[in-house]
Amino acid sequence: MPIHEKSLIRPENIKAHDKLVIDGVDVSGHWSTFIEPRVVTDYSERLEEEIAALPGGELIHRCWQCGSCTNACPVNALNPDFNPRYWIYLVRMGMESELLRDKEIIWQCVSCNRCTYACPRDVVPEGVMKATAHWLELKGHTPKSKSMIFDEEFTEQVVETGKIEEGRVIRRFFAKTGQPLLQDWLVEMVKRVARRLPVMQGILMGLATLIRPRTRGWGKARDAITEYVREQETLQRKALGLKDST
Ligand code: SF4
Ligand code: SF4
Repeated sequence: MPIHEKSLIRPENIKAHDKLVIDGVDVSGHWSTFIEPRVVTDYSERLEEEIAALPGGELIHRCWQCGSCTNACPVNALNPDFNPRYWIYLVRMGMESELLRDKEIIWQCVSCNRCTYACPRDVVPEGVMKATAHWLELKGHTPKSKSMIFDEEFTEQVVETGKIEEGRVIRRFFAKTGQPLLQDWLVEMVKRVARRLPVMQGILMGLATLIRPRTRGWGKARDAITEYVREQETLQRKALGLKDST
């Protein structure tokens, strides 16, 4: 399948000499323009397996490159370089360095799942985008994204307490990502919610952001979930050839 959305003739591969004489013939300037041959030197046999070992990437092998995911993607409509079909192609071909060229935009998937509904092969491209972004972080190619920090904060609270308190999630997420708590949009949202909220419920919500209410009898569930999460992390790191972090 050709990579029809991308030009492989890139500016850095086009060479020209201002002054060049060959066999006595002056071919300076545009006459000396040539394109460097493109040779794949970093083919990774394991790339598809590694992405498939991460949550969301399991069905990547089913892709038949129809492009419906990219056509449905609202981020692609804004930025043609954001291209799920193309990245799935690169992963399946093991073209790691080509994939790394786009490492700064893969995380921009907004998880709308339009691609997932459009996909005729049930690949779940949204999951593949998440798995690819996760792979980039685990391999150290990109720092942990804000989206990942939010997911970790959310999960930590659910596992610890069996409950989720949005106010505390947002407060701790902002603290971890160095963002000010008093942001205009948040202040406005809190004002609007406060106007409609019964007083007692508002007090309880406020208290819940400061203390950590727990689901009664949650201990056994917490231990089981923690063990499962550790097992999965160990398996994923092993699949990626990384040292166990626990
Ligand atoms: S989930 Fe991500 S890749 Fe899929 S359509 Fe939405 S933004 Fe695009
Ligand atoms: S829509 Fe599905 S099968 Fe088609 S290119 Fe995207 S992931 Fe592959």
